[in-house]
Amino acid sequence: MELTRRGFIKLSGASSAGFLLFKGVGWKKVLGYSPIILHKKIGEKTTICPYCGVGCSVIMAVEDGRITNIEGDPESPISEGSLCPKGASIIQVGNNEDRLLTAKHRAAGAAAWTDTSWDDAIAAIAVKIKETRDADWIETDAEGRLVNRIEAIASLGSVFPNSEEAYLMSKMLRALGLVYIENEARICVSGAVAADIETVGRGPMSNHWIDLVNSDCIIIISGNMAETFPVAFKWVTQAKEKGAKIIHVDPRFTRTSAKADLYASVRPETDLAFVGGMIRYILDDMEVNPGNYNMEYVKEYTNASFLVSPDFKGPADTGYGLFSGWDGSKYDKSTWQYQLSSAGAPKMDKTLQDPNCVFQLLKKHFARYTDDKVVEITGTDKEAFKQICQAYAGTGKMDMAGAIVFSSSSCQRSTGTQTVRAFGILQLLLGNMGVAGGGLNGITGAVNGLGCTLQGLVNHWGPGGGSVRMASSSEQTLSAYGGTKARFTSILKAWYGDTDHSTSFNYLPKRGGSYDWQSLFKAIDDGIIKGLICWGINPAVSGPNSAAARDSLRKLDWLLVIDLWETETAAVWQLADSNTEVFLLPAASSLEKEGSVCNTSRWNQWRYQGADPPGEAKSDLWIISKLMLKIKELYNGQTDKNAKAITGLTWDYGDIPDVSKVTKEMNGYDLTTGKLLSSPGTLKSDGTTSCGNWLWCGMYTEDGNKAQKRGTTDPSGIGLYPEWGWAWPVNRRIMYNRASVDVDGNPWDMAHPVISWDGSGWVGDVPDGGSSPVSAGGTYPFIMKPQGRGHLFGSGRPDGPFPEHYEPWESPVSNPMSPQQNNPAIVIWETVAKGNAADYPIVATCHRLTEHLHTGAVTRRLPWLVELMPEMFVEISQELASEKGVADGDTVNISSARGKRVEAIAVVTGSLKPLQVNGTTVHYICLPWNWGYKGLSTGDSANLLTARIGDPNTGIPEFRAFLCRIEKV
Ligand code: SF4
Repeated sequence: MELTRRGFIKLSGASSAGFLLFKGVGWKKVLGYSPIILHKKIGEKTTICPYCGVGCSVIMAVEDGRITNIEGDPESPISEGSLCPKGASIIQVGNNEDRLLTAKHRAAGAAAWTDTSWDDAIAAIAVKIKETRDADWIETDAEGRLVNRIEAIASLGSVFPNSEEAYLMSKMLRALGLVYIENEARICVSGAVAADIETVGRGPMSNHWIDLVNSDCIIIISGNMAETFPVAFKWVTQAKEKGAKIIHVDPRFTRTSAKADLYASVRPETDLAFVGGMIRYILDDMEVNPGNYNMEYVKEYTNASFLVSPDFKGPADTGYGLFSGWDGSKYDKSTWQYQLSSAGAPKMDKTLQDPNCVFQLLKKHFARYTDDKVVEITGTDKEAFKQICQAYAGTGKMDMAGAIVFSSSSCQRSTGTQTVRAFGILQLLLGNMGVAGGGLNGITGAVNGLGCTLQGLVNHWGPGGGSVRMASSSEQTLSAYGGTKARFTSILKAWYGDTDHSTSFNYLPKRGGSYDWQSLFKAIDDGIIKGLICWGINPAVSGPNSAAARDSLRKLDWLLVIDLWETETAAVWQLADSNTEVFLLPAASSLEKEGSVCNTSRWNQWRYQGADPPGEAKSDLWIISKLMLKIKELYNGQTDKNAKAITGLTWDYGDIPDVSKVTKEMNGYDLTTGKLLSSPGTLKSDGTTSCGNWLWCGMYTEDGNKAQKRGTTDPSGIGLYPEWGWAWPVNRRIMYNRASVDVDGNPWDMAHPVISWDGSGWVGDVPDGGSSPVSAGGTYPFIMKPQGRGHLFGSGRPDGPFPEHYEPWESPVSNPMSPQQNNPAIVIWETVAKGNAADYPIVATCHRLTEHLHTGAVTRRLPWLVELMPEMFVEISQELASEKGVADGDTVNISSARGKRVEAIAVVTGSLKPLQVNGTTVHYICLPWNWGYKGLSTGDSANLLTARIGDPNTGIPEFRAFLCRIEKV
């Protein structure tokens, strides 16, 4: 019999006494102490760790309504009972004397908080929202079009609430007419979403954690997975034990590097060039060793054979780093289009020889990324680079699979989207998309990053993401709406019940500008935004140029913060004079409420409530519901200012909101039968179905709540575990899985079949697309892309159809690749001139830690974690330390052109080495960004040094490379 650790404990609890007595051996003699006698029954409930995107399952021991212990849940196939230090410390979130116990109010200009009751706080906030909304309501735009929006109120929402809470938040904010709605996803991984949608059609991680064990080679690029996603790293080490090669490419030699077979050090923000060189290596090798690659995959499942306009020119043609069509401020993309047949379909050359086919254009573009050029740009070791190319190219074989794992580190830069585009091109060329052990695995840093963002908590998306984007001013009717009508109509039915959906379509705001994170802060500075809601988010620490962000916050008329603690954002008025009126509401922690969360693999798992919140703290669900009901009350009887969008909004969740009602609303109903819908395919555009979020349709059906499923069987044999939780869409575990089979439906890799065609249907995972094999007339596997092909050439981005290396906004070197120094389409909000290498010669990059999450708002409140990682520090190479006369443990000041100094303890390490870049010695330093001025451990925020500039695709800030200088204090 195989006995688990918990099984052993249970068994020993039941039988050890008898066994030992039988043997005539007393407890004390064996154990040295008396056994604990349990007088009360301890209940067990499960939750999901509230921190990172791994989604580790946790068992809470609950005694008399208190959580007395937590431990990893051994039944979870994802985490198998493991927890990292953060997860193991969550009991200190519940039992913490710093938690907010009452609602607080800071009157404009007041010197201190005053406690207030929930009734008074909710009433005052509702009035504040109504007054601001009514005073600045925008009914029509300058062209006289109905827009029904409010720009004077903004919301920054979190990535930590349950999906049901995020859904209600989105419903409330959209009904109020807000358009400035953003969350951390914008500044974390938005570049990956834009890139992956361009390349393969969808944004999230394509595969899942457990699937990494099926890999033959895993390349972890620009991130420290072993420390930032420690429990998931077990799947990397298990793959290694089974013979997989592990590659790490990163500026720092970390614990991830220590576990890797191959490591390459690169200058921060240059891995686009590194991967560009890998693509060039593979394209060259395909000519010499075509048998080592799955050329059928490349020809059939990518747009390699598609012919592009002969007028298209790339940097290889222009010689100055730009593509054809640049007009000095943006690209005219008319030359980036396919040649079309008379039927309007792209012309193809399946021999891949036509000079205008994507494959040949790709070769021409990346031919410039030679070994020497890669070394010149990145400063990497040439031999290490070649070994990595060779090792990863090995996954091009039909029965081999390679996985790319990356995170925010690849996205937070002015070329973030194109960097991730390069990863996607690499994977498509090697046939690594859709297969077990492959994939584009962009990790979300937060537990419910996907579950919150996809409820519509970024400005342009409604609940369900890109296919239900919020309408723009030009879309005046539902018939003119360019998103998916059945999905959007079903949202309208969920939100406005019996109201005709063509009428309720115009209840919701129409977008008319740029409302992303950095634009939002500019709008505060410009006096457009007067009130800001911060829901479990801490922009005083997390945004670029924190000093400027804090100034912006102090310009608001009012600020509402909902959190577990008094965060830096809530306390921003304590730093300098401010007339901002601030409300601070005490929220329940994840241990004290119920609902679903979606990990980075798209797996939804259910969290149960372990204990009541302390003091008067309440769940986000309760707070949102109370606030919306009060606002509805205030608008009762009003007829102007689009009041019907508020009064007509369905809101029937009970006095203490029933989370299951929300989950069911998200899933949706057949309104003709009243039954819960079974899948998104059943949604209708005629108003006979309601569905709050089509991606979640299928999670709570007539068969029950599938997020609560805890089945541990794996009939697939490749770790799909279809009965554990529920993955969107439709419980598919590996996206694009129809690319794992040939055109006849036979798996490329017979040892790890994801799906296969048995002559009448698909066997295995839920097929992506569902139709018959391609040879039988079925669709091609990348069903979200036109023609169903993955895009090596992508014409949808504003900064080029192929990735091209440009230097970060601040760089100590001239671009070795071309005269074009920066991304030509870079977006600049910064008002301070950029730093130059003469004044700020050192490159700085940021990262996070095992022990702290994001701004540290939670983790710097927990004694165990603060003891493990007590203070702000900076890693400096031995060479730089010697130049600056800095010893390990010295206090240093780091400054940038933003004019602020960050104090940190120097950690002098051999993990960093100065790099030779284009004849220049480049020193770089590494800073964690988890500190602020509130909490048990306080320190300067690294973001005091970063700049307000961003990637043109999503506006994601450039956190990962900027110039600084460093001085010993
Ligand atoms: Fe698991 Fe992440 Fe929580 Fe650590 S922080 S226990 S890896 S979910």
